[in-house]
Amino acid sequence: MPIATTNPATGQVLKTYEAMSTEQLDAAIERTDLAYQQLRTTTVDQRARWMNAAADLLDAERDEIARIMTTEMGKTYVAAQAEVTKCATAARFYADRAPAFLADEPADAAAVKATRAFIRYQPIGVVLAVMPWNFPLWQVMRFAAPALMAGNTGLLKHASNVPQTALLLEDVFRRAGFPEGAFTALLVGSEAVERILGDPRVRAATLTGSEPAGRSIAQIAGRELKKTVLELGGSDPFVVMPSADVDRAAEVATTARCQNNGQSCIAAKRFIVHTDVFDAFAEKFAANMAALRVGDPMDPNTDVGPLASERGRDEVHAQVRDAADNGASVLCGGELPTGDGWFYPPTVVTDLTPQMRMWSEEVFGPVAGLFRVSSYEEAIEVANGTSFGLGSNAWTRDPAEQERFATDLDAGNVFINGMTTSYPELPFGGVKNSGYGRELSELGMREFCNTKTVWVG
Ligand code: NAP
Repeated sequence: MPIATTNPATGQVLKTYEAMSTEQLDAAIERTDLAYQQLRTTTVDQRARWMNAAADLLDAERDEIARIMTTEMGKTYVAAQAEVTKCATAARFYADRAPAFLADEPADAAAVKATRAFIRYQPIGVVLAVMPWNFPLWQVMRFAAPALMAGNTGLLKHASNVPQTALLLEDVFRRAGFPEGAFTALLVGSEAVERILGDPRVRAATLTGSEPAGRSIAQIAGRELKKTVLELGGSDPFVVMPSADVDRAAEVATTARCQNNGQSCIAAKRFIVHTDVFDAFAEKFAANMAALRVGDPMDPNTDVGPLASERGRDEVHAQVRDAADNGASVLCGGELPTGDGWFYPPTVVTDLTPQMRMWSEEVFGPVAGLFRVSSYEEAIEVANGTSFGLGSNAWTRDPAEQERFATDLDAGNVFINGMTTSYPELPFGGVKNSGYGRELSELGMREFCNTKTVWVG
């Protein structure tokens, strides 16, 4: 894939970049390793001052950053502005909380026959972050803020279609005061990842992306004995039970499916509805989806902008056609629009069978699969019936049923009567083929720490 900014709303290539040579790449790793030797000796208070300065820059430059993001990957300008603000919030969260998250933790000294015993959290070194384009700032920030606050340094291999966003974040951390090289954007294709991860100066990797990319990185990291955190795909269930507020569920379902033009790992993708409320939900949901305004992502009245790439749109349409051609019913959308840009209409498909791709595959666009079930047990069976286990949603006002969903949904996140969202305060990650490890909260920070046991006799 060329490293370039191509506007998905027009298909126009706006800026292209040469990939770094091997020598440039080695020099960048060297700079980031030297920055680690410096950063590890700074105090957490000093790092917090730099992280707060980075948050201030994001706030001050929000609109310009948002414009670049919208131009590179097509999310609405309004959503891009909100993403920049969310990143500033996360930066401040880690600036505020890192002293507590990194503080020595006393252990029971008497039980281990010591005069003193405790856990000390220390940085591990240079961490490689391989990141996707869909939340081009947020995905990176949720790695960078805890990593830099812990005293690690970061190498960012961003998706090839968002190079400007990658470079601007590097620039923000530099201007905020972090040592030169503490956070470095590498303009390289995915074929360079093996070399980077094989470099002894690089200690670990985190990837947010697809399952094939996850398998490839885990394989290399396994050979190199390096720690990885993998945040992969999802096909989140959104279960609606008879006691649910159906109007509210149908409203939130629309946002949960079409946020970020339908390209979110934790978007609700499979809507599993009890037969008692199926018709009412289906009618409202399809009407809400059909009413969304698709168009220019810079227009504040637009709900759904273009998909990020032509290939991505072709894939989504092929999944819908596969279902429709094999007997599924399309309640709204499903037609490829004519004209420039990679737009796709919000679409609802029902009467799916296990033979259809949409039954088990992730659909990365504004397309919902709608499933009818007749019991709690069947809802759980369908909800858990994919290889993924990232987020999940259940709608029920019955407290006992809420408890059962919290236990029975096989996912890293369960949201009851609301849509799955990431918060700096809560751990985020998946099970099964959605990956392993956690980001955000103190758990995310400690993934890339040496949890050191100290025993004093
Ligand atoms: P992708 O192809 O896996 O790309 C993600 C990143 O991985 C890009 O930087 C890409 O580089 C790189 N990459 C791709 N193949 C690679 C390989 N074999 N070895 C090393 N690096 C590789 O993902 P995508 O299809 O663009 O993004 C959508 C996917 O990401 C969806 O499955 C979505 O659910 C998932 N996602 C997960 C989360 C989460 O938190 N769990 C969040 C967002 C997205 P190039 O751009 O240069 O190819």
